[in-house]
Amino acid sequence: MSKTALVTGASKGIGAEIAIQLAKNGFNVAINYNKSKAEAEKVLQKIIDRGGHAEIFQADVGDYAAVKNMVDSIYKEFGFIDVLVNNAGIAQQILFTDITPEIWSNMINTNLTGVYNCCNTVLPKMIHSHTGCIINIASMWGETGGSCEVHYSAAKAGVIGLTKALAKEVGLSGIRVNCVSPGVIKTEMMSSFSDDTLRELKEESPLNRLGTALDVANAVVFLADEKASFITGQVLSVNGGILI
Ligand code: NAP
Repeated sequence: MSKTALVTGASKGIGAEIAIQLAKNGFNVAINYNKSKAEAEKVLQKIIDRGGHAEIFQADVGDYAAVKNMVDSIYKEFGFIDVLVNNAGIAQQILFTDITPEIWSNMINTNLTGVYNCCNTVLPKMIHSHTGCIINIASMWGETGGSCEVHYSAAKAGVIGLTKALAKEVGLSGIRVNCVSPGVIKTEMMSSFSDDTLRELKEESPLNRLGTALDVANAVVFLADEKASFITGQVLSVNGGILI
C-alpha cells in the first residue's frame, strides 16, 4: 500500500517540488495551500499527469483548528499520514526596530507555531502506529542569523530546536524528526532580492550557484526514505557550502 505524505505550503516553490518528487517516489501526496488555490491545482495536475495520486487541502498552518480539520480530512481520504513535511513559510526583510508586535507574531505564528500545529495534530496517530517521519524546512538564517531578518531567523532557529527536542521525545515511538536547512534557493520568496544581491550570494557559495527547489526536494526524499532510517534529530544543510 502506498504511503502518504502531507506537504505544507505545497502550492509554490520548494513545497511544490517536494510534493512532485514525493509523488514520483510513490507517495500519495496531500498538497496543502493557504491562499494560492490555482497554483495548488496546477501542482495536483502535474502529479496526476505523471500517474501519481494527490489531493489539495486548504489550511492556514498558523490556525490550529484549521490544521486539525485538514488533518482529519486527509485521514478520511488517505487513512494515515506517514510523512509530514513542514515547509509552509513566509519571509520578510525589515529592520529589527521596525518590527511591530503584530509583525513579530505573524512571523512566529506562521513559521514556528505552524510547525507545532501540524506536528501536534499528526503525531498522535503516528505514535499509536509506532511509525512516522517528520521533516521540517528550516533555513540557513536559523543556523547563523540574518541581518534584517531577526524575526525570521528566530522562528527558524526555533524550528531547529523543536526538531532536536521532538526527535529525542518520539524516537522510542519509531518516529524520526529531521530538518532540511536550505541556503539561497531560487523561488518567489527571493523575488525581493536584487540581481546584484543574488549574484553576490551566488559568488559566496563554493559551488558558485544558487540552489533550486529540486536540490531541497531531493534531500527531503532521502530523509523520508527507509535508507535514512538511522538518521534523526539532524539538520541537513542544502546551501552549496555557503555556510561551512
Ligand atoms: P514561496 O515560494 O514563497 O512559497 C511559500 C509557500 O508557503 C506557498 O506555497 C504558500 O502558500 C505557503 N504558505 C505561506 N504561508 C502559509 C500559511 N500560513 N499556511 C499554509 N501555507 C502557507 O517560498 P519558498 O522559497 O518555496 O519557501 C518554502 C520554505 O523554505 C519556507 O519555509 C522558507 O522559509 C524556506 N526557505 C526558503 C529559502 C529560499 O531561499 N527560497 C531559503 C531557506 C528556507 P499560499 O501561496 O497558498 O498561501
